[in-house]
Amino acid sequence: MKANRGQVAVYLALVLVAIAVLMLMNVGTFLGVRARNHTMNSGDAAALAVARRQGQLINRIGQLNEDHLHAALEGDSNRCEKIVSLQLRLSFLEPVDCIGIGNEAAKKNGCDRSDRMKKILSDHARDVRMHYVGNPDAFPEPWPGAWEEYARRIEVAISDGMWAGPDNIEFLDAATGHLLLNRGFYQAIAGRNWCWFRFNAPGVLGSYSSFGDWAPLPSADEETRRRRCVNSEIYSLSLDLRTGSAVHLIGLDAIRRITGKTTAEIMSAPLMTNTTQRWFFYDTSGYWRKWREIDPSGETSFPAMGRVKPEYDVRGCAAVCRTSLKFATVVDDSPQREAVWSAAAKPFGTVRNEHEALDVVTAINGFVTAAFTDVRLVPLDTVGGNDLATADPDWMEHVKHHLPVYLRSGPDPFSPCWYCARLAEWENQSLREDGDRWLRLNAQQCVRPSGGMGGRGGSAHGH
Ligand SMILES: [Zn+2]
Repeated sequence: MKANRGQVAVYLALVLVAIAVLMLMNVGTFLGVRARNHTMNSGDAAALAVARRQGQLINRIGQLNEDHLHAALEGDSNRCEKIVSLQLRLSFLEPVDCIGIGNEAAKKNGCDRSDRMKKILSDHARDVRMHYVGNPDAFPEPWPGAWEEYARRIEVAISDGMWAGPDNIEFLDAATGHLLLNRGFYQAIAGRNWCWFRFNAPGVLGSYSSFGDWAPLPSADEETRRRRCVNSEIYSLSLDLRTGSAVHLIGLDAIRRITGKTTAEIMSAPLMTNTTQRWFFYDTSGYWRKWREIDPSGETSFPAMGRVKPEYDVRGCAAVCRTSLKFATVVDDSPQREAVWSAAAKPFGTVRNEHEALDVVTAINGFVTAAFTDVRLVPLDTVGGNDLATADPDWMEHVKHHLPVYLRSGPDPFSPCWYCARLAEWENQSLREDGDRWLRLNAQQCVRPSGGMGGRGGSAHGH
């Protein structure tokens, strides 16, 4: 009987331990799920708030385009000038303030403040002062003193801290178009995903011999940079300021429809054919193009779900916001984990074309009008710059500080940086030979992943 009671006690103790472990695991799961929810809600709210503001800004610029046409018809060249400088301030400076708008929305939904995200932007404000100011050939100012104002705006926007990081910043001084700047490359090495190489970097597995082979990191060409210099790098509206006659650039028919004037009235106004007037257009060689022109790999990799109505078939500008939240773990050794989320949203709108039918916002020969009425979350893969990850501190540190050293002196196998560790693996000849051999035998098994560019992992298809 006594022995029996002892057995029961041991048994009960075991049950209690099991219950305790289960409860801890549940608490752990609960903390993880809650952190993930807060992070997602914060990111989604921030992206929506920023995209809404982007739509409002384009609408104001569009309204001013219309005012500009009327001022030109009235021959008021002074007013024309004033309108264009106001538009420039709207496209170049105002999107910077979206940083604060995103932060407010994210903060309310309970994500963490990130000092590392703040550092990315404060470093950039310093870089603008050091490299952009006083270098008008490489970074032409939209008006005298614009870069200084821009740097100041960034500093004001981040002064309280950062909650939602702009994840698709198009830094004018950033290198572009290089395998080392593609996060998919590192993920492919980590996952031994040889198919990725087949679709994104064919031949490199066989031809690479050492880090000395890499071409230097190229930067954007002058023409692209000049075009971008009327836009904020942060939450860019991707607009284009064109110089020329309104009749030639916008078209007589469109001007008639916008202003309600007759051909004779338009043609008799000298400012309408004046070739020095400046007008705001969508950047139709940048993001304001049809989806498939941007991603020529075609049907199978088209990232949106379902059919896209023709009047919405334009990629356009977008807000990509990154949020994060640390949470305690109770079961394993790591003291804290971090939930990270990246959300994308876009302003939506349509215009009436010359047949009075609904059409994409760019249908009036690319001329900006007040066309935006809506804002929605969209899959990350469908927006431009979705893979830039400019609010990811690890990635930004790697790109800005580690890559230049790597290109000079090769991989550092002791680096704590995850990306640098992948470059050390990549240097290993047998790894590349394995991949090359595998592809020789199995390439036909590779299926191109939907979403083309890839490289965002779990959050890429979040919506
Ligand atoms: Zn690194």
